Amino acid sequence: MTIIADAQHATEQTIGGRDRIRHVKLSTLTLPLEVPISDAKVLTGRQKPMTEIVFLFAEIATEQEQSGIGFSYSKRAGGPAQYAHAKEIADNLIGEDPNDIGKIYTKLLWAGASVGRSGVATQAIAVIDIALYDLKAKRAGLPLAKLFGAYRDSVPTYNTSGGFLHAPIEEVRARATQSLAQGIGGIKIKVGQPDSRIDLARVTAVREHLGEDVPLMVDANQQWDRTTALRFGRVLEQFGLVWIEEPLDAYDAEGHAQLAAALDTPIATGEMLSSVAEHIALIEHRSADVIQPDAPRIGGITPFLRLAALADQANLQLAPHFAMEIHLHLAAAYPREPWVEHFEWLNPLFNERLEIRDGRMWVPRRPGLGFTLSEQAYAWVTDTAEFGRA
Ligand SMILES: [Mg+2]
Repeated sequence: MTIIADAQHATEQTIGGRDRIRHVKLSTLTLPLEVPISDAKVLTGRQKPMTEIVFLFAEIATEQEQSGIGFSYSKRAGGPAQYAHAKEIADNLIGEDPNDIGKIYTKLLWAGASVGRSGVATQAIAVIDIALYDLKAKRAGLPLAKLFGAYRDSVPTYNTSGGFLHAPIEEVRARATQSLAQGIGGIKIKVGQPDSRIDLARVTAVREHLGEDVPLMVDANQQWDRTTALRFGRVLEQFGLVWIEEPLDAYDAEGHAQLAAALDTPIATGEMLSSVAEHIALIEHRSADVIQPDAPRIGGITPFLRLAALADQANLQLAPHFAMEIHLHLAAAYPREPWVEHFEWLNPLFNERLEIRDGRMWVPRRPGLGFTLSEQAYAWVTDTAEFGRA
């Protein structure tokens, strides 16, 4: 190396210029749930109660000793497929500059082009994309929300995990009380049972328990047809709900649009969709008042940011689905006041906890996502694959 090239190299190292990905570790693990979980899809016989969630983690390390961690997940089926696809494409990362997230994303898409740009194929890329964003924010010494450019330090949060259909109504009410005492601001309960009278009794019981001022949402998990959704949606208007979630099949953009136009109560949907393109159908049809993308499900943070820009342009509210550890940062960076969904299910995977008070979840001051994997998480790992130089 010449003296000039030497100096240039040293400067690049100092200011954090070009770095290279040295090592990638993929881990698949199975998180057991304390009790089998049922929403309306189980009560209508379409799915079995959920007993576990399969996670895919990526840990990425660079020549400059920077590191990032990301995760994707699947419920019931799909975990092994995400892991298999990630293993096939991960080698493409070695030697790339981890700062060039857009370039890497495109490279990984082309590596798996024949299996498409949605679903499992991009969910496998999501785990890497999220790890690269974590790494970039850590390098900058910023919480991820600050790297994006945050609008707020905390986001209104509501609890979902206490309102499932396997829980008798006394338990749902007790869990709601617990959530509010913890500082959580709103409560969501599941509906969509074959007998709407049972739904009505549960919503009435919870609304009476909470009083009129506590924000309350309901979630039908796609189990109504258009007629039921409209008729029951009209019955629900009296409860002043924050939203009715997934009243119809996730892909019925037109039906959601008709319902959203007919009801005063806002309509929320989007969690089941697996790409930005699928979400654009909702935006174009004006199907929802509140859009509910899930970053791991739609292929990571790169597509989420693209979708968030489109959703804001269309004047939509945002309430990302599940994975609060990732979505808190993304919600904090959305221009309109969003909601973030509280589930305590992932707590055993991480050493850190999110601060919740005054009805809001607070963006951690730690750099990156702000999470490290717990010993328990490593104990649940069922398989790993490594690429590059450890
Ligand atoms: Mg939902």
